[in-house]
Amino acid sequence: MPPPSGGEPGCIFCAIVHQREPAHVVYEDDEAIAFLDLYPHTRGHLLVVPRRHVDRLTDLPEAEYAEFLRAISNVCRRVDRLSRHYHVSVNQGTLAGQVVFHLHVHIIPRYSEENPFAVHPRVRLDDTEGRALVSLLGAP
Ligand code: 5GP
Ligand code: ZN
Repeated sequence: MPPPSGGEPGCIFCAIVHQREPAHVVYEDDEAIAFLDLYPHTRGHLLVVPRRHVDRLTDLPEAEYAEFLRAISNVCRRVDRLSRHYHVSVNQGTLAGQVVFHLHVHIIPRYSEENPFAVHPRVRLDDTEGRALVSLLGAP
């Protein structure tokens, strides 16, 4: 259990990484963790986050790219349990929709041709649904 500190002050994803804030975590390794997005576009919408606080992809030290990509691939393999169709995306900068300035990769499963990004309210993740998804996706 890490100490109740660490990371960038005021960063919600650092707070999750350092277990000061709850999240439905489905994957962890030494460099990265993945948890369910609190306002999912679709069921099983995940965020893969390096433990190290960096704002943007280009701020991640190059020596850490391979490990981070490995974590993303591992999580994608688990998302196959939900759907073989998903987006893997990064929003960089406010004009591209970035609202949390701790690097994160979205994995957004698709279940139909319906556009999940069409304008409709995103509903907060329900805890019961979160627990069900953690038991489906959390197993290696
Ligand atoms: P961005 O728009 O920065 O690429 O994506 C940030 C994502 O983080 C959004 O999809 C948003 O729903 C999600 N998010 C924001 N705050 C929290 C939080 O406290 N917990 C979790 N699990 N997700 C969050
Ligand atoms: Zn952070």
